[in-house]
Amino acid sequence: MAAFLAFLTLLAGVLLGTAPQEAERGVTIAIDGPAAPLASGPLPRIYGSRDPRRPLVVLDPGHGGRDPGATSPFGDRHEKDVTLAIAEAIRDALVASGKVRVALTREGDDFVGLTDRYEIARRMGAGLFISIHADAAPSNDGARGATIYTLSEVASDRQAALLAEQQNEAGRIGGAEMVEEAGVNRILIDLAQRESMDVSTEFATLLQREASPYFPFRPDYHRFASLVVLKAPDVPSILFETGYLTNAQDAAYIHSPEGQRQIALGMRSAIETHFARRTVNLASR
Ligand SMILES: [Zn+2]
Repeated sequence: MAAFLAFLTLLAGVLLGTAPQEAERGVTIAIDGPAAPLASGPLPRIYGSRDPRRPLVVLDPGHGGRDPGATSPFGDRHEKDVTLAIAEAIRDALVASGKVRVALTREGDDFVGLTDRYEIARRMGAGLFISIHADAAPSNDGARGATIYTLSEVASDRQAALLAEQQNEAGRIGGAEMVEEAGVNRILIDLAQRESMDVSTEFATLLQREASPYFPFRPDYHRFASLVVLKAPDVPSILFETGYLTNAQDAAYIHSPEGQRQIALGMRSAIETHFARRTVNLASR
């Protein structure tokens, strides 16, 4: 009877949210606190300045491992390889000037789930998350130029909706599912997400302005889509399509070391300006 009563007390405590951390008989029930981060395990290496006060940008080379991404008709090359090469070029450019710290979500040909990608940025306290991709339009080889995607539940156009569908599907191969938060937690996440989305949009505009001298953008360069990889509630995030693997001119510069260097210089200029502005904004508050 006593055991049954103790069980009832424990059960009521769990239901009411008042269960002791250390229940009788040594049973430990953790019922509060935020959900554990989806990504666990070691975090990637940080490149650049050793000063932890310097802002951190996390670069996310799209695809990898069993997810090759798009395939270029010019030389049959995979998107997953070129996204890594471009991320490395951007990292090297940023390290050379030493103003920010940099980390990559993958440094080899590895599969990383979409939520794990942004959880890495969250766990590292990144100020900016940039997912790097290369476009493909097999039925329109005239399409060229870079595009920047930011998060929106409503896609800006049919292509943007299609991209979200493809990317989110590819990321699910073995990746973790989204965990839906409830109640007050959800409201706080929504508030943080709104601010992150504003900063992401600001960065998209800045990137086009700073990088236009280095490489071409599409006329409608800023698009919106519900991309899982952009859903970190508290890290401003963009998905950057460097250009079209299906366009001869774009493919040539995307695959060439000189083209990758140009992309890196444009990106560096935008990233450094972004953080310089935010430092000034925070200081003047
Ligand atoms: Zn891609």
